[in-house]
Amino acid sequence: LTAQIQDLKADLEAQGVKYALASFVDIHGMCKAKSVPLSHFGQMMAGSELFTGAALDGVPQDISDEEVATYPDPNSVTILPWKPEVAWFASDLYLKGEPFEACCRGILKKVLAEAAGMGFTFNLGIETEFFMLKETDGKSVPVSDRDTLAKPCYDLQGLLDNYTWITEIVEAMNSLGWDVYSFDHEDGNGQFETDFAYCDALKMADRFTFFRLMVKEIARKHGFFATFMPKPFANRTGSGAHYNMSLADINTGTNLFYDSDDPRGCKLSKLGYQFIAGILKHAPAICAVIAPTVNSYKRLVARGSMSGFTWAPVYRCYGNNNRTNLLRIPLAGGRVECRAADISSNPYLGAAVILAAGLEGIRDGLDPGEPHTENMYSYSLEQLATMGIQCLPRNLSEAIAAFASDPLSETTFGTLMYNTYIQFKSQEWEDYHTHISDWEIQRYLKFF
Ligand code: GLU
Ligand code: MG
Ligand code: MG
Repeated sequence: LTAQIQDLKADLEAQGVKYALASFVDIHGMCKAKSVPLSHFGQMMAGSELFTGAALDGVPQDISDEEVATYPDPNSVTILPWKPEVAWFASDLYLKGEPFEACCRGILKKVLAEAAGMGFTFNLGIETEFFMLKETDGKSVPVSDRDTLAKPCYDLQGLLDNYTWITEIVEAMNSLGWDVYSFDHEDGNGQFETDFAYCDALKMADRFTFFRLMVKEIARKHGFFATFMPKPFANRTGSGAHYNMSLADINTGTNLFYDSDDPRGCKLSKLGYQFIAGILKHAPAICAVIAPTVNSYKRLVARGSMSGFTWAPVYRCYGNNNRTNLLRIPLAGGRVECRAADISSNPYLGAAVILAAGLEGIRDGLDPGEPHTENMYSYSLEQLATMGIQCLPRNLSEAIAAFASDPLSETTFGTLMYNTYIQFKSQEWEDYHTHISDWEIQRYLKFF
């Protein structure tokens, strides 16, 4: 055992930890792990835990292939706040002693290394919207009794009614040093958001995957369940996971996206605009990753069957502090928010592809043009067409087609994960497309 691992083991022991988890994610960004009694900690950190990729969604392996091994990252150590005798570790996957090319965390690390080579640290803050529901008479309904409220956004009573479990989540996040800066009742009944400090993108992706696990566990303790489905109710807002992004100088930590003299008035630097332009260029392919499910595209509408607006992006454009654009530059400037990302997405793959696009914008010195300061929802499709603004993909099928035909996808994901992603998500689309829904039966069965 190296001294570092020995110290870590002693430290965990002193804190009463009995088991360690060598955890990694599948294509969905869901945690998979083996638990190891602390007596075997040294072996676990040295890659003793083996996994058959073929047993998992989108871990491209044949049943006859050699297993992949987890190499836990000691820096990611996270003691489960709700079960402090267990410590979780995010791991990289290896195959035959080499980094496994389809490891989601490894894919992000590769793009982060590219950014580092250009002198950048990629800072990321992911906002977390989710619904807290309970089962009543076989139906999934919001926990809050104020379910009938027409405008639940920022509802204080709705927040206070849910004080016990939500503060348990917030305190758990803070006990891990995540620095929650606000939490609220969101715009859908039973929808909440807990926001915490940005950090480097690898740490953020580790935290985000752990967050979903933690919220589910804490919800269950209270007899509820949390859902990270992007659009569980047609008549309510969906659950976004907005990416707030900036590049910092790798040596000094200075935010390179801030410019108080920005002639466009958004307090964003030229570098920030180039980053935006790269994302806009690859937006349809990026959508396939940050809005990865059939259901994701039911969120990316201006109204749908809602009476109010959705706050979700629909068009491929950017703007100032204005929530109707795909990319928004919040009031304080110095960062770019991508609003298409939803809470079901795999943060490693999402951060990898969006960063790769942004870096391309910087390398090629692209310019996104002037920001849209107006309400983009107010335009007709004809008006948008004359302005040269396209819709984001309308469904998973369109998004996957865009992903498949964009060269950035394969260079970012590597050939194995690129092919796997297309195959897995195309099948997901086919499964959906060949299903006959209630809507079709109601609309057509007796009509025709
Ligand atoms: N829930 C909205 C979405 O789907 C976002 C609302 C907000 O801006 O916080 O993206
Ligand atoms: Mg929100
Ligand atoms: Mg936001």
